[in-house]
Amino acid sequence: MKDKTKEMEKVKKAVIQCQKCPLHKTRTFPVVGQGNHQAKIIFIGEGPGANEDKTGIPFCGQSGNILDELFESIGYRREDAYICNILKCRPPNNRNPERNEIESCTLHLEKQIEIIKPKIIAPLGNYAMNFILEKYRLKDRIEGISKIHGKAFQIDQMKIIPLYHPAVAVYNANMKDNLKKDFKILKKWLDQGKED
Ligand code: URA
Repeated sequence: MKDKTKEMEKVKKAVIQCQKCPLHKTRTFPVVGQGNHQAKIIFIGEGPGANEDKTGIPFCGQSGNILDELFESIGYRREDAYICNILKCRPPNNRNPERNEIESCTLHLEKQIEIIKPKIIAPLGNYAMNFILEKYRLKDRIEGISKIHGKAFQIDQMKIIPLYHPAVAVYNANMKDNLKKDFKILKKWLDQGKED
């Protein structure tokens, strides 16, 4: 347990010192990740927004409120999971992540996955999904998130379950229902993991 926390401290230091892409120049705080180092599940978003940049906490704005609501809908808590992003520094004006930024930054995410050793990885939205499916050699299975959200891909002892990014539900109640349905699927897999 302590070892994981120690390892995560090293990741934090590496992120703070990281200058591999220009985003470190414009960020306020890097957003390393938050949550339980023993978590069964890791949620991976895209990159920090304005609120996250100001606080260093992932998903603490509107998308985060939706995420909390989704957790609540399955009787789960944010503290039970580990939450982070593919990019640790905010892209200016919330623009999409660029390829070089993803290539430079994801060594940190890969280390986090290695430390947590989750049973489930839930990438949120297309960017995180593309990165994770490529990483686990499932590039040929990539489709738009609207096609494969909620599907479980088995990799050895682990599942990858791509989900819509919670931001899609900020102004669209129908999408929130879709996300809630996917979280029910997630809960099924999480409960199954309880016997392990
Ligand atoms: N959107 C993301 O993808 N990540 C955050 O941390 C906040 C909003």
